[in-house]
Amino acid sequence: SRTPLIAGNWKMNLDHLQAVAFVQKLHWTLKDAGHDEGSVEVAVFPPFTDLRTVQTLLDADKIPFALGAQDLSTHDSGAYTGEVSGAFLSKLACRYVIIGHSERREYHHESDAIVAEKVQAALRHGLVPVICVGETLEQREQSGPTAVSVAQLQAALAGVAADADIVVAYEPVWAIGTGQVASPEQAQEVCTALRQVLSETLGADAAARTRVLYGGSVKSGNIASFMREPDVDGALVGGASLVADEFAAIIRYQK
Ligand code: 13P
Repeated sequence: SRTPLIAGNWKMNLDHLQAVAFVQKLHWTLKDAGHDEGSVEVAVFPPFTDLRTVQTLLDADKIPFALGAQDLSTHDSGAYTGEVSGAFLSKLACRYVIIGHSERREYHHESDAIVAEKVQAALRHGLVPVICVGETLEQREQSGPTAVSVAQLQAALAGVAADADIVVAYEPVWAIGTGQVASPEQAQEVCTALRQVLSETLGADAAARTRVLYGGSVKSGNIASFMREPDVDGALVGGASLVADEFAAIIRYQK
C-alpha cells in the first residue's frame, strides 16, 4: 500500500514573501478542516529563492509538508554559473527534486541523457527524484499513448539501483496548463505501463513500492476520479497548487 502523494509544483510563481503567506494559509485551511495528516503526503516545490524561507517556516511551525526543488544541476559543485547543486538542496532539508519536467525538456533542451544524469545527481545527495515523463499530442497520435513515456522512463532509470527511492510522474504535455485534462482511464493506462517499466528495470518490489503520479490540469473537481485508478498514486499539480483553498481541497480529495 503506497501512501498517496499530492505535490504542488509552483513553477515560477510566488516569491519568498508570498510563499510564507501561502504555506501558512494552506496549513491552517487543512487544520481548520480537521484534515488527517497521515492519510496523504503533501509536498511543495517552490522556486529556489524561496527554499530557505519555506524550510525555516515548516520547521518553526511544525508544518508537515515535504519540501522539494524544481530542478538541480548534474554536477555537485564547481564552475557552473547559475546552477544549483543537489548537495545544497539536501542541506535545505529538501526531500524531493523534480527532474525532466516537460517545460525543462522543451525550453532548456533537456535530453533523456541529461535527465538520467540529474536522477543520478539527486540520488547521490539523498534526494528523491520526481521523474517526469509524458507525450505531446502529436507524439500520442503518431506512436500511441504509452511509447514516449515508457522510453523516457527507461532512459531515466539507467544506472538506478533496485532499492532507490524514486517517484514517477506522468504528465501528458497536452494536459499541462491547458484545462484539457486526461481521462482517468488514459492516466491509468500510461501509469500501468510505467509501473511495468519499473518492474522490468528495478524489479517487482520497486514496482509495488514506487508512487506513480498523474499531472496535467488536476483540480479539486477531478482529483478523486484519478485517485480511484489503481496505478495512480497521487498528483503533480501546477496552477491549482497556487490557490490555498483549491490545493487544500485537492489534498482532501477523500472527503
Ligand atoms: P497544471 O496543473 O497547471 O496543468 O500543471 C501541471 C504540471 O506541469 C505540474 O508539474
